[in-house]
This record gives sequence, C-alpha cells and structure tokens, in this order.
Amino acid sequence: MDIQNKIALVTGAGRGIGRAIAMALAKEGAKVILTARSRKQLEDVAGEIQAMGGETLIIPADLSDEKQAREMIATAVRQMNGLHILINNAGLGYFRPVADLKIEEWDEMFSVNLRAVFLTTQSALPHLRHAKESFIINIASLAGKNTFVNGAGYTATKWGLRAFSQCLMLEERQYGIRVLTVCPGSVDTSFGGSGSPHSSKKEIIKPEDIADTIVMAIRMPQRTMVSEIDIRPTNP
Ligand code: NAP
Repeated sequence: MDIQNKIALVTGAGRGIGRAIAMALAKEGAKVILTARSRKQLEDVAGEIQAMGGETLIIPADLSDEKQAREMIATAVRQMNGLHILINNAGLGYFRPVADLKIEEWDEMFSVNLRAVFLTTQSALPHLRHAKESFIINIASLAGKNTFVNGAGYTATKWGLRAFSQCLMLEERQYGIRVLTVCPGSVDTSFGGSGSPHSSKKEIIKPEDIADTIVMAIRMPQRTMVSEIDIRPTNP
C-alpha cells in the first residue's frame, strides 16, 4: 500500500508505541487520527505532526466505554471522510500473582486490551471494506505466546487478542482487508510500571523499531499479507 494520503487511526497514540506509529505514518504522508484518554498527550503528538506539515485529528476517548469507542470511530470516519488503516495499540498491564490480582485490574485489562479491539474493529469494518484495500494492525505481544509468573491476566488478554486477530484475518481477507498481528518483546516505554517483566538492558527494543516494522508490512503489495510478526530484543 502507498501510505501517502491514506487515513490511519492509531489508538493509544499519546505516548510509547502508539505515538511512534503515528509519527512514522505521518512521515510517510498519512493523515493520522490520534486517540487515547489524555488530551494533553494527544495534543503534543498532533503538534509534532503538524510541525512536519502533516494532517492530523485528535479524538480523546476512553476505549473501555462502548459508546465512546464506537463514537470515536464514527467521528473519525465522518471528519476524515473514510478510513484505510486501523491500528489497535492501546493497552495496559497489571503484573501480580493471581492470588493478588484485583478484579478491577483484570476487568480493565480485558476491557482495553481485548474488548475495545472488538468494538473499534467492528465499528470500522464497513469503512475498511468500502476502502477495498485496507489494514487492521493489532498490537499483541510475545506475552500472547508465552507465560510467566505475575502475567496471568495480561498474557490471557494477549493470547486472546492473537486468536481474535487471526480469526478476523481469515474472515476479512476476501474484502481486501489485511490483518496483521504484531508481537513485540519488551519495548522501551513507560508501560506496566515497576512490576512488568521489562529488561533493564540498554539494547531493549525502541518504539520506533515497532513503527518501522509496521510501515514495512503496510508497504507490501496488496497480493501479499504479512499476518503476524514477532519482534524481539536481539540480546535480551
Ligand atoms: P504506554 O506507553 O503505557 O501507552 C499505552 C497507551 O494506551 C496510552 O496512549 C494510553 O493512553 C492508552 N490507553 C490505555 N488505556 C486506555 C483507555 N482506557 N482508553 C484509551 N486509551 C487507553 O504503553 P506501550 O508500551 O506504548 O504499549 C502499547 C501497546 O503495546 C499495548 O497494547 C501493550 O500491551 C503492547 N506491548 C507493549 C510492550 C512493551 O514492552 N512496552 C511489549 C509488547 C506489547 P491514556 O492513558 O491517555 O488513555
């Protein structure tokens, strides 16, 4: 896909991996819609995109709320007049043993990491089908392929997201929608706080590396779909 002038929506675009993806797509000439809860962070990213001469729109929304998630997509499509690329990146993790994990933490992870992806995707599908050549990219994790102590809730959301994403890929390819699941290892962001299983090594993956990989996958010709990518630190 030629990214120039395509309309792309990135969830969790205010910081970390989502911010890097939004910036990379804007550099390639996409019109980028930014969403997350923190308006200030979205405004900062939008400012950076506008400073590069890019076109962007911010739509603050709490994606754990069905109405806000669906309205966010409707507003984006209405204001930008279409949608070609949906990046489901927003997510969070609480890392504790099952014995200590709070129900509110479990529910929030499932609500944002999995349920919100269903909501945004379902709301976007008619528009992505209409575009004929379009993309859905879901940011899962290597935690969606592995298990570890303190990761029961988070890994369950990401294993679930990979399953959702792969079923979606099989359903939507006939409409020209390519679905890519990205599974990064530990990335250098503020994600997860002190309990997360992050490497303390300097060689940790940077958010820009995830963004560059996604740009490469989108650029592949329409006949070819890269459907899942693992991204690992070379020397963890
Ligand atoms: P991050 O820096 O904490 O960013 C998370 C983003 O998600 C923020 O923009 C946040 O914005 C948004 N978000 C959280 N809850 C939300 C809600 N209820 N509604 C709307 N937006 C919400 O984390 P990150 O490291 O960039 O992670 C991005 C994605 O990559 C996540 O899905 C994560 O699971 C995945 N991942 C991360 C790593 C890693 O090591 N960092 C590795 C593998 C996969 P607000 O708080 O303003 O809403």
